[in-house]
Amino acid sequence: MVVGEFTQDADLLIIGGGPGGYHAAFRAAAGGIATTIIDAEPGLGGVCLHRGCIPSKTYLSLAETVHAAAAAKSMGIDFGKPKFDIDAIRGWKEQVVSKLVGGLDALCKKHGVDRVRGVAKFEDGKHVAVSGADVSRIKFRRAIIATGSRSIELRGVQIESPRVMTSKGALELADVPKTLLVIGGGYIGLELSQVYAALGSKVTVVEMTGGLLAGVDGDLARPLLKRLKDELHEICLETKVTGMKEVKGGIELTFDGKKPPKAQRFDKVLVAVGRRPNSSTLDLDKAGVAVDDRGFINVDEGFLTSGPKIWAIGDVIGNPMLAHKALHEGMVVADILLGKDAVFEPQAIPAVVFTDPAIAWAGCTEVEAKAAGLDVVIKKTPWAASGRAVAMGRTDGLTKLICDRSTGRVLGVGITGVHAGEMISEAVLAIEMGAVAYDLATIIHPHPTLSESLGDTAHLIPS
Ligand code: NAD
Repeated sequence: MVVGEFTQDADLLIIGGGPGGYHAAFRAAAGGIATTIIDAEPGLGGVCLHRGCIPSKTYLSLAETVHAAAAAKSMGIDFGKPKFDIDAIRGWKEQVVSKLVGGLDALCKKHGVDRVRGVAKFEDGKHVAVSGADVSRIKFRRAIIATGSRSIELRGVQIESPRVMTSKGALELADVPKTLLVIGGGYIGLELSQVYAALGSKVTVVEMTGGLLAGVDGDLARPLLKRLKDELHEICLETKVTGMKEVKGGIELTFDGKKPPKAQRFDKVLVAVGRRPNSSTLDLDKAGVAVDDRGFINVDEGFLTSGPKIWAIGDVIGNPMLAHKALHEGMVVADILLGKDAVFEPQAIPAVVFTDPAIAWAGCTEVEAKAAGLDVVIKKTPWAASGRAVAMGRTDGLTKLICDRSTGRVLGVGITGVHAGEMISEAVLAIEMGAVAYDLATIIHPHPTLSESLGDTAHLIPS
C-alpha cells in the first residue's frame, strides 16, 4: 500500500461518526453489511459526545449539585461556599467523554465496523476523495451522509477572538469569565448560561425575539425563567447585538432593541443563535445530491437523497436537530438496507432543555394545538401538589396534558421540573400507543414519585 494513494472499497460508507452515523453503522454491520465509517475526529461520537450533549450535561449536573447544596442550607445542612477547581472540572468532563468514546471503540470492534479518520468529499456518485488519512479514496456501493451541523455565526457582527466562543469553545471551559454575554436565548444559550452562572460568572443573555426558548409553551417556561432571573445578571429580550470589538481585557458590545443595554465590555461572549447543516464542503453536486435553500439535504420518506444509493440522516437533513432523532433515522436506514420493512413515523419526538428546572415535552404543544384548531382539553398539575417534589424542596415544576376533547386521546405532554427529561418517556409511550387520559390515570404510578403527577393530571381530564 502506498500511503496516501490507496483506494478502499466499502459496501456501505457512512460519512460522519455522530449518534446518527454510528448507530447506522453498528446496526448495518451487525446485520452483515461490510460497513466503513469515516470521521475527521479520532474518536466516534460527533458533536454530541465531544462538544455538545455529553459535555454540557456533565457540567449541568455539576451546576445542579451547586444548586442543591445551596438549597440544603434552608433544610439544615450548610455545605458552605463552593470552591471550584476548573482544571479538575474540565478533567472530569474529559474522563466522561473518553469513557464513552472507549465504549464506542469497543462496539466498532465488536461489530467489525471499519474506521477511517479523515475528511470525505464526493468525487461522483460512487467515490469520495479522502484527505488527512492513509486512504486517499473510497469506492462505495451505498452511502449514508450523517455529517451533522455547526454553529451559525452572527454575520457582519461576530469577530475572530478567543474571547468570542461558540458552544464548542464554551464547553472547553478554558476559564470562568467574570462577565459573560450570551447571545441567543435558546437551548444552548440557556443551558450554558446556567453552567457559567453556577461557576460564578455574571451572565447577561440577549435574545432577538420577545421570549426565551421559542416553541416552548409559556407556562412550561415560567418556572425556569423565574429561576434564571435570580441566577443571571440580566435577560434582555427583543435585543440585537449591533457591534462587537476587541478592547483591552474584553469585548465591547453595542446593542439595539426595545430596551437595549448600554454599550459595555464583557470578558467573554458566547454566540448561540442556532445551527446550520454541514453540507457545503461535501461537493454534493458531484454526487447528484440536492440541498434546499438553507443547505439541508433533500430526502424522501426513506431518507434517500436525489443521489443514487445515497441516503442522509440527522441534523444535515433538517429540524429538529436532536441526537435521538438522528439515531432513530440511522437505524431505520440501516434496516432498509438490510431489506427490512422499516419506516420512520414517530408520533412524538421528545425535546428536553436540560436546564434546572428542566423542560421536556412530547407530541403537540398548546400553541401548536391552538394554531391547528384542535378541539382539546388541557389540564395542569403544579408540583406543589406532589409529595415527592415537596420532600425534595423542588416544587418549581408542573405537568401538563393536552388531550383530544371527544376521545381523551393524549396528544401532547409538557413537564417542567427536576428530572423532567427522565419523565417524558412515559408520555412518549402514551402518545405512540394511542393512550387516552384514562389509561394514564388508571395505571399505578409508584408513590411517592414525581411521575405520579402524570397520573394526577390525567385524572383531571373528563373521561
Ligand atoms: P436555538 O434555535 O434553540 O436558539 C437560538 C436563539 O437565538 C433563538 O431564540 C433565536 O431567536 C436567537 N437569536 C437568533 N439570532 C439572534 C441574534 N442576532 N441576537 C440575539 N438572539 C438571536 O439554537 P441553539 O440554542 O443554538 O441550539 C441549536 C440546536 O441545537 C437546537 O435547535 C437544538 O435542536 C439543538 N440542541 C439541543 C439541546 C437539547 O436537546 N437539550 C441542547 C443544545 C442544542
